[in-house]
Amino acid sequence: MNKTLLVAGNWKMNKGLKESEDFLSQLSKNVSEAQQKQVLLFPQSPLLYAMSLQLKNTKIRFGSQNVYHEEQGAYTGEISPLLLKELRASASLVGHSERREIFKETDEEIALKVRSLQNQNLIPIFCIGESLEQREAGNTFKILEQQLKIGLQHLDLSKEIVIAYEPVWAIGTGKVATPEIAQEAHAFIRSFLKESWGAEFADSISLLYGGSVKPDNAKELGAQEDINGFLIGGASLDVDSFTEIISYCGA
Ligand code: PEP
Repeated sequence: MNKTLLVAGNWKMNKGLKESEDFLSQLSKNVSEAQQKQVLLFPQSPLLYAMSLQLKNTKIRFGSQNVYHEEQGAYTGEISPLLLKELRASASLVGHSERREIFKETDEEIALKVRSLQNQNLIPIFCIGESLEQREAGNTFKILEQQLKIGLQHLDLSKEIVIAYEPVWAIGTGKVATPEIAQEAHAFIRSFLKESWGAEFADSISLLYGGSVKPDNAKELGAQEDINGFLIGGASLDVDSFTEIISYCGA
């Protein structure tokens, strides 16, 4: 593979402090400095401070799995983008399908989160994807277009953003999208970005694929033209699997 891919790990509600520390010290040893620059990790929020300290002298970046759209105030239980910035986080996931499904986040709320992250120069990792029913009904592109249109309505073109295509039917199910299906969706997203904001912008955006990425399917997926990296759940919990995937991703 002659391109460098971004490799993001979503730990979801897994890993305590000790497990996180052990993982990070092993990962820092396993990967080169160039490879570290490709890695972004998303732990549970209470681990962010410890992660920030531990990764201080590495190139590995990290972020939160969620953020609130206001900067601070009476919003019990929410995560401030200002605090993320202070902790030297680089990014936050936004609109992950588990947030959309379990916590009923709407496209409009997600759009506000994208804006609040960009206001702090944090990178939104903006997740979209169709359910199995939507795919089987032939509505995949319609759903992706709606999520893109509404979720990116406050987009600041001068700030960074990463988009993750995560078909819901492939998340945590072991059912990975074929390279053709993933490429087709990524090409659709790229063309939507191009029509909306021009070719220069569209070509500058990293499009990640997420959904049961494992060491044995990463190479083929990563070789697809419009796939610029991965958002990985299950396989990011195991340092050996995660290291192996990184080894297929360029640098
Ligand atoms: C995810 O949670 O974003 C994800 C892609 O999970 P998994 O790799 O386990 O399918």
